[in-house]
Amino acid sequence: MKRRQFLGTAGAGALLTGGVLSGCGQESSKGGGQATASQQTFNWKMVTTWQKNFPGLGTGANLLAQLVGEMSGGRLNIKVYGANELVPPLEIFDAVTSGTAEMGHTSAYYWKGKIPTAQFFSTVPFGMTAQEMNAWLYYGGGMELWQEVYAPHGLIPVAAGNSGVQMGGWFNREINSVEDLRGLKMRIPGLGGEVLRRAGGIPVGMPGTEIFTSLQAGVIDATEWVGPWNDLAKALHKVAKYYYYPGWHEPGTTMECMINRTAFETLPDDLQSIVMTACKAVNIDMLAEFTARNNKALQTLVNEHNVDVREFPKPVLDKLRAISTEVVAELAGQDELSARVYESYSQFQQQVVAWHDISERAYLNVRG
Ligand code: CA
Repeated sequence: MKRRQFLGTAGAGALLTGGVLSGCGQESSKGGGQATASQQTFNWKMVTTWQKNFPGLGTGANLLAQLVGEMSGGRLNIKVYGANELVPPLEIFDAVTSGTAEMGHTSAYYWKGKIPTAQFFSTVPFGMTAQEMNAWLYYGGGMELWQEVYAPHGLIPVAAGNSGVQMGGWFNREINSVEDLRGLKMRIPGLGGEVLRRAGGIPVGMPGTEIFTSLQAGVIDATEWVGPWNDLAKALHKVAKYYYYPGWHEPGTTMECMINRTAFETLPDDLQSIVMTACKAVNIDMLAEFTARNNKALQTLVNEHNVDVREFPKPVLDKLRAISTEVVAELAGQDELSARVYESYSQFQQQVVAWHDISERAYLNVRG
């Protein structure tokens, strides 16, 4: 009962997760034990989609584990596994559902094959920025919908990181018009890839580890990755001529911490609160780190490596936006829950754009 109250009341749990764990069935009391288990030690595994210690994403997962360990005084120890150390990167969802690992650090768009609607909780082309995503998730009903979407899989999702606006990518072909997208072989995953396909391009799926050599060998003409910090680390400037912005396809990608529901309910209340608080801390920290390091890496790319940074022409972005609207709306047609997620996301975006037009955008325009 205590678990349910924690997550369902207006207390810390509701604040941290954005609200109740709706649609998760009638949980009975776990039969006690937790109340007297305050000194019990828990050892959890966290599987991740990222290479171990990968800057930003992997180190963000490490920070989450470290914070939980420190705040719990060592009562909840989380061992972090990089991609393929315990399970392959795209089997994390199943590993946490089955309890092979109690926790995963990843991003929701990787589960589009199982749950296409999950993509709304990661990022969608021409969708919301990091600031707007956090507003929707924490205070706009997004978190409750995310929990409802994952509930049938025995998972509790929590926002745990954000890359901010990504870059459009590295190109070995100038993009001056929509025509230049025709036949363009580009590594670009997810909905962005589908949008490129409908614009005449050829989206190619490949893990991050193969990007450099594929671009070098001309197997692909272009690739997106993340932003200056991660792209510089991959040395993509050595194998591509032009660095385009903005990252219309990933305007503020939310990372997720997924938690096995049974494992979470076994924790005493204070440890549950610590896990949620650590996720929120990492959610904020990762965005700050990406912003600071992207800024610095961009200077390095431009000043030391003479990278040709270019903006996509407006007609190209207009075309991609029009196609994106169609592609994203199609996600709503799958089932009743998807329709509600789409409705909530789109309505929130519409409203927050009206506000940000006269706040963030207006300010950035006049700041110079
Ligand atoms: Ca990306």
